[in-house]
Amino acid sequence: MLTCGCGRWMHTEGIEERMNSEGAPQGFIRSECRGCGLTVGVDVPEGQADGLVDRMLWTDDALHRLDRMPPYLAVLVREDVEHDIRRHGQRVVTLDTLLRSRTGERIEWDSEAEGRLKRVPAPVRAMARIELERTAADRGLSRVTVALMEEVKAKYFGMGAQKA
Ligand SMILES: [Zn+2]
Repeated sequence: MLTCGCGRWMHTEGIEERMNSEGAPQGFIRSECRGCGLTVGVDVPEGQADGLVDRMLWTDDALHRLDRMPPYLAVLVREDVEHDIRRHGQRVVTLDTLLRSRTGERIEWDSEAEGRLKRVPAPVRAMARIELERTAADRGLSRVTVALMEEVKAKYFGMGAQKA
């Protein structure tokens, strides 16, 4: 945690995910001293923000993504992600942490659908998995099938997806 010049702990207001000048991901932590009102911003390399925040904190990016999920799903995802973060002794939830988590739904994948997901470009894959499982859950389906993938492909797989 950060200590203010006046001797008090600084309160963490939020974290933004940014790139440094070399294009490497880093966090920008906003902190405020509630005693004297001093505010500071600190750049830290990715994965090193945990010691500089005063509680479990979601980055602005992760929060924004969570806010766009349907409320019932957001609750499950939040529980799942925070459980996972605690288990690893971490404090900061990044967009990447969020996308790597399971959705909380018990959605199975047909092997053909799973195979097709592997061909989706990596940057889109985690998001595609979540969106597909969410769509399946919304419809009360227990499996992601190729037919379902075809259906939502235009929306989520449009960019750079390879032909089967
Ligand atoms: Zn102060």
